[in-house]
Amino acid sequence: MRGYINIPESIQCRVCKHCGSRPIIALTGKDEYVVKCPVDSNHYQTQPGMIDIEDWNLENIPLPEPEFDDANMVACYDSKLNYTFFLPAFSA
Ligand SMILES: [Zn+2]
Repeated sequence: MRGYINIPESIQCRVCKHCGSRPIIALTGKDEYVVKCPVDSNHYQTQPGMIDIEDWNLENIPLPEPEFDDANMVACYDSKLNYTFFLPAFSA
């Protein structure tokens, strides 16, 4: 029977970026482990081998939220179509 290990709370690891689950460590071979999403095998899992929570964390950086929803933000485009945002209410 294949073993699953819950990652202790004391270990810093990101949740699955697809479904928000905390990953588990699964034994896939004699001495090979993967860090994977417990919900869906199609979500990210690390390469079999050493327990590589760092790799999991790199792959599960949360998708960026849409930015600048704040109605107070104003976008400015310059002649090269670079844009900057600023708060019009800001005063030094
Ligand atoms: Zn997942």
